[in-house]
Amino acid sequence: MNTITILGSGTSTGIPMLGCKCEVCKSPNVKNKRLRSSILLQVGEVKVLVDTTPDLRTQFLDNDIDDIDAVIITHDHADHLHGIDDLRPLCFEHPLSIYTSLKCEQDIKTRFPYMFKEKHPDAGSIPMINLETVELGKQFDIKGIPFEFFLLPHGPFTTLGFMQGSFAYLIDCSDVPEETMKLLKARNLDLLIIDCVQRPAHKTHLNVDKCFKFIKAIAPKQAGLIHMGHGLEHKKLAQEAADNFNFPVFPLYDGLKLNYR
Ligand SMILES: [Zn+2]
Ligand SMILES: [Zn+2]
Repeated sequence: MNTITILGSGTSTGIPMLGCKCEVCKSPNVKNKRLRSSILLQVGEVKVLVDTTPDLRTQFLDNDIDDIDAVIITHDHADHLHGIDDLRPLCFEHPLSIYTSLKCEQDIKTRFPYMFKEKHPDAGSIPMINLETVELGKQFDIKGIPFEFFLLPHGPFTTLGFMQGSFAYLIDCSDVPEETMKLLKARNLDLLIIDCVQRPAHKTHLNVDKCFKFIKAIAPKQAGLIHMGHGLEHKKLAQEAADNFNFPVFPLYDGLKLNYR
C-alpha cells in the first residue's frame, strides 16, 4: 500500500483568508483550516513532495516530515512554488532533485536565481538542488517509482498533472483534455485527487459542478477534493458529495492520510 498525506487542502490565500470574517474563515472546525495545497506521496520507502507552498515549513513540522527523496512542482504560481527556499535544510547534506515541466523549470530559475548560482567561497551553505524536466505522455521514473505526467490547462497557463500506480493528481486545472480523460479512465483508479475551488464558475480552476462531472466520468474507487476556497464549508461539501455519488467522494483536509494500490 502507498500513502498520500494531505499537507494542505486550501486555495491560494489559505483558509482562513486574512481579514475575512465569513462563516468558513471563522469556523471552529479544524477541517475548515486549510494550508496551501500540497501532498506527500510515500511509495515503499520513497517520499515525494508535491509542490513547495508558502506553508511548507509548517506543513513539514505539523506532519513530522524530516526528509524527502524528491519534489514535483506542478506549476510556478506562488501558492505552489514560493516555499521552495524552505527546502534548503533538506539539501545542505545531499542533493535533492526537483521535477517539473520545461516551462516551469525556466520560471523557477528566473524567480529564484540565487538557489542555482555557483557557490561563492566566502558565502554560507547553498542548497544542492537539481532541476529536472519530466517527460510527458510516457512512463517517467522518479527514484525508481513510475509516474506518468501530462499537462492540464489552468486558464491561460498550464499545470503538470500525473498518475502514479492507481493514483491520479489533477491540481489547478480548468479542464481535463479528452486524451487525458482516456488515460485516467483506462487506469481504473483507486484514488483521484482533484481541484475543486468554489461553487461559481472559475476561469482557471474546476468549480464544484465541473469537478463532479469529471469525477463521474473518470469513476475512481474514491475521490478527494482539494484547493478549496472559503466558499466551501467542509461539512456541507461532504454532504453534497455524498448525495451525488454512490462511491466515496469527499473534501480533503490537512493532515489526512489515504492509501492506494
Ligand atoms: Zn493553486
Ligand atoms: Zn472567508
